[in-house]
Amino acid sequence: MKRCPKYTFGVGDRFANGAHAQLAAFVEAKKLGIDITPVWNKSNREHNIIGSEPSQTRAAADKAVADLGWTGEYLLDADHINLSTVDRFVAPCDFFTLDVADDIGEAAEPADVAAFIAKHPELIGTITIEGIAEPFEITQSDVEKTANQFLKATQKAAAIYQHVVAAKGGVDEFVTEVSMDETESPQTPPELLIILAAIADQGIPIQTIAPKFTGRFNKGVDYVGDPLQFEKEFNEDLAVIAHAVKTYGLPDTLKLSVHSGSDKFSIYPYIKKAIQRTGAGLHIKTAGTNWLEEIVGLAEAGGEGLALAKTIYVKALEKKEALSEPYATVIDIHYSNLPTAAEVDGWTGTQFTDALRHIPSNPGYNADLRQLLHVGFKIAAQLGDTYIQALRDNSEIVAKNVTVNLLERHMKPLFL
Ligand SMILES: [Zn+2]
Repeated sequence: MKRCPKYTFGVGDRFANGAHAQLAAFVEAKKLGIDITPVWNKSNREHNIIGSEPSQTRAAADKAVADLGWTGEYLLDADHINLSTVDRFVAPCDFFTLDVADDIGEAAEPADVAAFIAKHPELIGTITIEGIAEPFEITQSDVEKTANQFLKATQKAAAIYQHVVAAKGGVDEFVTEVSMDETESPQTPPELLIILAAIADQGIPIQTIAPKFTGRFNKGVDYVGDPLQFEKEFNEDLAVIAHAVKTYGLPDTLKLSVHSGSDKFSIYPYIKKAIQRTGAGLHIKTAGTNWLEEIVGLAEAGGEGLALAKTIYVKALEKKEALSEPYATVIDIHYSNLPTAAEVDGWTGTQFTDALRHIPSNPGYNADLRQLLHVGFKIAAQLGDTYIQALRDNSEIVAKNVTVNLLERHMKPLFL
């Protein structure tokens, strides 16, 4: 297994045009004493929507690393893949997020469930875990229920993992994550313990796990939920992971992966407190926030850049239902709050950036517009060279926004 560094930070580069500006944020963070490893992530869904290939993400990352003289590690994440989508990611990627969300709830063989229960008497009864005040009370029927819910999913994860091992020609080439965040209901800490036992049984050297936490993790906007409840759950998950590493011999690098959907500012202080208190590692994915900074940069540039930003918004507004559909579980757009095409047409660059840039205290900020544009990258993809050329024409101002956003709004609050 390739060891995963302690702090890893996932950045999405939708148009394979922002890697330099993204990496610049890691360079700046390093100067401040924060050692964070960049992980370029782009899921099969995003590649399909844009019409791009994982090898392009690899080329952009490699070039940025070479140009900026980055000597630290960096990784390329095959984000949310399964057996049917993994193949084109095998060669360029060295981090694989095995997505088993769709398999959760699929019944496992009764014999497999029975064997799991027989193998794990330690999961039944009063389970005391260091760092959790109230011991878990888990009954045999709880274990059976959770096994029926998740055992099949872990078996499918093992099949994807073995497929990658065979295709890569070895186990030392990559980091393995298992994700179950894009589901209806969150996994509780006791469920996480049972899931980790099952993953260990499958022989998957898991180093990051992405559960679904309580609350809404909508794309591009802040957390919706009770941050204190999140804090309790996050801390308990950390304790469960430490316990599972010792009990089941999982890699000591195993850590939580927060598929944040970007910009979960209100829970960052709790994440920071927890990792500083426990010394635990963290993987956080931010994805589409960078594409939004490209639009912010174009709008700030004014002139043709602003005109293009407006065009993208207006087209996204026309296609709002279709653009939202693949992201139904991770956006909540209130259509009535979206400004009309005519309104936006009259906006200055500042009005546009005030509405889009994620500064909640700015009276002009509009979370619904932001979410719509977050899922609106298909529009820019359809503009093809026009969009890419605009990014090149305004590269300095776009890069500034990408770097400042990552460093100031994400890395410093999380790690400094
Ligand atoms: Zn995810």
